[in-house]
Amino acid sequence: MTALAWPYANGPRHIGHVAGFGVPADVFARYMRMRGHDVLMVSGTDEHGTPILVQADSEGLTAAEAAAKYNRIIVEDLDALGLSYDLFTRTTTGNHYKTVQELFSTLYGNGYILQKKTLGAISPSTGRTLPDRYIEGTCPHCGFDSARGDQCDNCGRQLDPTDLIDPKSRINGETPKFVEEDHFFLDLPAFADALNAWLDTRTGWRTNVLRFTKNLLDEMHPRPISRDLDWGVPIPLEGWIDRPDKRLYVWFDAVIGYLSATIEWARRSGDPDAWKRWWQDPEAVSYYFMGKDNIVFHSEIWPAMLLGANGEGANGGEPGPLGKLNLPTEVVSSEFLTMEGKQFSSSRRVVIYVRDFLERYSPDALRYYICAAGPENQDSDFTWAEFLRRNNDELVAGWGNLVNRSIAMAAKNFGAVPEPGELEEVDRELLATTKAAFDTVGDLIGANKVRAGIGEAMKAVAAANKYLADTAPWKMKEDPKRQGTVLYTVLQAVSDLKTVMSPFLPHSSQRVHELLGGEGVFAPMPFIEEVADLDEGQGATDGPYPILTGDYSDVPKWESVPLVPGTVLEKPTPVFTKLEPSIVDEEIERLNA
Ligand SMILES: [Zn+2]
Repeated sequence: MTALAWPYANGPRHIGHVAGFGVPADVFARYMRMRGHDVLMVSGTDEHGTPILVQADSEGLTAAEAAAKYNRIIVEDLDALGLSYDLFTRTTTGNHYKTVQELFSTLYGNGYILQKKTLGAISPSTGRTLPDRYIEGTCPHCGFDSARGDQCDNCGRQLDPTDLIDPKSRINGETPKFVEEDHFFLDLPAFADALNAWLDTRTGWRTNVLRFTKNLLDEMHPRPISRDLDWGVPIPLEGWIDRPDKRLYVWFDAVIGYLSATIEWARRSGDPDAWKRWWQDPEAVSYYFMGKDNIVFHSEIWPAMLLGANGEGANGGEPGPLGKLNLPTEVVSSEFLTMEGKQFSSSRRVVIYVRDFLERYSPDALRYYICAAGPENQDSDFTWAEFLRRNNDELVAGWGNLVNRSIAMAAKNFGAVPEPGELEEVDRELLATTKAAFDTVGDLIGANKVRAGIGEAMKAVAAANKYLADTAPWKMKEDPKRQGTVLYTVLQAVSDLKTVMSPFLPHSSQRVHELLGGEGVFAPMPFIEEVADLDEGQGATDGPYPILTGDYSDVPKWESVPLVPGTVLEKPTPVFTKLEPSIVDEEIERLNA
């Protein structure tokens, strides 16, 4: 199972978001399907919590209307990028509410949810609850001066607003007043030993994730899971369920989305028990993809919730109605993408929304940049100059040029894939190189080293371009037999490489497949379907809403397939677009406008 972080629906998403979780996860899922694995890729929009309310207020919408608006925009953007979700849903569904409440009840029954008095912040000027993330102050652990009331983005520790030194409201700068109120807490310390033992078995993880998580275990506190809020999943306990002012904390319901989305996928597939294959079968593996600011939820809190629901923490207990559930196999976290040296920020207008990007550039141009230069192991910087260079010098001049020259030459001279004569050493060498790329690139994708993976694929592209330059088939007019052999060889290399490239660049691989005379779907794409909520009642969405889904059952195998001589070829049109250098200044102007 490939589980992708849930984009928050308080606005359109920028390219930093899809660089962190979207594209790397899609590369992995596409590759695993081609290797013959059964893959399920799920996620959805995260639609509860205060920021949605704040955004809705600012637009004169209800929270539900704002969530629906941005859910649709995000669905359309992820579709345009070709992210091959089996189901991309949302947290405002009856199914999600039911699953969240079921898990809460199991955790509560097993004794992992504590009720206690706590200090909550209110705004002295309005008397209203001041949500944690709208309180800013200095982190007591690392001294970072913009730590939020729920988490420090610098050292990653979870915080309570009362931990902050010199807390201030981010809305109007005033000092919040703290008052006593009842709230629910997840008893995280009860999972310290079980989490530690589990982490010791997680040998394949990136060291940054493992080290970060181990450090978290040194100081675990009960974590609040309810809020004073009227937008979220109601707390399923007597005396609480009907209260309009208390809801589960947005992070608590959002992480359960992985489970609820799988259940929804199963229900929509006509086999309502199919989700159990992914969550109960001990042989099933799950990969979670996210940006580094979300590690804590996936490597510590979600596993703790699952341990509690299984009755496997220090307080014991029994599995609930959903049975014993699988913990994450691997947590794959990316670092941050910055832009022109600055952190992405909608408010400071350091931002490129996915939609705006795709209006002017192709999805594979963005996917290439993210794969080749994304923030896989360290923060990386997006600059328009580097985007231009990567697009023109690598994608267009490398891979695009190879495709166009070889197919154009074969179409012009033979009108078809030529019949090869006997291969020479140099021909066999090139084909050995592209065949070997299946193993090297595949192993790297399987280890979630996308950057190195596409680097190896581009090395094979360079070898094919060099072969073309060295053999110079355009000078072989007098020797059509040898010319046919060379062109056959390079076309076979192109065919192999379009397969190797397809997890990274599915749109262009589909085009290359067609240019080589192939028919049908080579790299399947997701599609948007308008659906009705499966349930009625609490949480259910009225009216149709878009989900992202797809049929990926018939993907090509991850292997070299021999081209058939005689297959008709036509003069190709360019697969990628060369960009004018002027786009750099234009884009920077647009940013500053
Ligand atoms: Zn800190």
